[in-house]
Amino acid sequence: MDPANGEVVGSVELTAIDAIPRLVFQAREAQRGWGALTHQQRADVLRPAAARLKEEARRLGDLASREMGKPLAEAIGEAKYCADGFEEELDGIVTALTDVVREDKRVHSVLRHAALGVCAAITPWNFPILMPHQSVLPALVAGNTVLLKPSEETTLVACEYARILNEFLPAGVLTPVFGDGRQGRALVLADINLVVFTGSRETGKRILADAGPGLKRVILELGGKDPLVVLDDADLDLAAAFAVRNSFRNAGQVCVSTERIYVDASIREEFLRKMVERTAALRQGDPRGEGTTVGPMVNARQKAKVVAQIDAAVAAGATLLIGGEPREGNFVAPTILADVDHAMEIMREETFGPVACVQGFTTLDEAVRLANDTPFGLGAAVFGRDEARAHTVAGRIDAGMVGVNQGCGGADGCPWVGAKESGYGFHSGPEGHRQFAQVRVISRLK
Ligand code: NAD
Repeated sequence: MDPANGEVVGSVELTAIDAIPRLVFQAREAQRGWGALTHQQRADVLRPAAARLKEEARRLGDLASREMGKPLAEAIGEAKYCADGFEEELDGIVTALTDVVREDKRVHSVLRHAALGVCAAITPWNFPILMPHQSVLPALVAGNTVLLKPSEETTLVACEYARILNEFLPAGVLTPVFGDGRQGRALVLADINLVVFTGSRETGKRILADAGPGLKRVILELGGKDPLVVLDDADLDLAAAFAVRNSFRNAGQVCVSTERIYVDASIREEFLRKMVERTAALRQGDPRGEGTTVGPMVNARQKAKVVAQIDAAVAAGATLLIGGEPREGNFVAPTILADVDHAMEIMREETFGPVACVQGFTTLDEAVRLANDTPFGLGAAVFGRDEARAHTVAGRIDAGMVGVNQGCGGADGCPWVGAKESGYGFHSGPEGHRQFAQVRVISRLK
């Protein structure tokens, strides 16, 4: 369903739960041949998919936009990002998985990065091309065969992504599985070796419990409640522009959305005024409409959750500065709440909607304490002109990725990593790619 207008975008046949063990068996059979190739050979099999993804980027973007409501330009941008970086990503994975030699006076050892076997890749809907892409590529190059279970909200676009890769892959190497949590759970419980999961903390905990008895390997990239700390010397235009962009991008449905803003009390009023001004200029509406910057929530359930958090916060004393009013369909207006505190659910649980919550602080210790007062630890950002001071504050924030005067994403080659309950294992960059492989140490006397 298109969440912007309720129209049916398409349909697929669900994978029968009792068919899943057979699909896993086929993937295991296919793994023998696929696993026998070198990393480089596997990357070379996949390489021609780059050109096909480039050709199809507009169509994939359009489909993603219609399935989950992302503004069209952003959805096409997501598809292009995957297509344009495809070959470089393959090369990076091959390099990361290359043998490493370690030796001392007596022993010569080779560290190999072997396949784990069969991988279940289970993905969310908010980046419906990027998430399958980041899970599937390293798993395949490492020599695993993969069953991809995309979100039930964005099945069609993930199916198209898999179809393009399957133009080049041998049969059984990449198998899409269609359904919701039931199919996902059946996959985790089946005879697989690795679960690569991106999604909510709650589902991550369930997967960990289901994978535990078989000691299956897991990589869990989970939700967040990212703080932004605005110090008294921050460039307020820069900080407000970032706060608005990172709170409302993808209608706030981003794992590293800014969900909590702590601003020095001395600059609070001016910062809020700038945020409200910029928020008023956003254009919400048809994701395929000219100039739309904010689309709908992915579905009515997500909308209801966001609206309930806003209403509860306002009832508990939060001040609504802009937005908050009910909108037709699945839309929630970009909303700024001030005078919030940690007694409110909206400051504790992931919102995943277009809401910016602003709380003042008076000392750096207080700012750090508030930023760390959460079980989550995905991303964070600190804005301040004195970079050394901002870096010191950043270093005290217990998150996997912290940006100083920018978002939390690192340079090329950095992992995408969550701390605390935002992650268990991680992906991307050499360290992330290696988690899709089994390290084997093969040694001989010199
Ligand atoms: P979700 O946890 O509801 O679902 C994710 C996937 O898991 C879906 O494919 C779903 O069908 C499947 N699933 C549900 N129950 C399952 C079970 N018991 N066993 C196996 N699979 C199961 O998450 P969502 O609503 O699709 O996505 C939003 C969440 O994803 C947010 O919490 C967001 O922060 C998080 N996310 C995290 C990152 C990151 O990199 N850390 C990136 C994107 C999204």
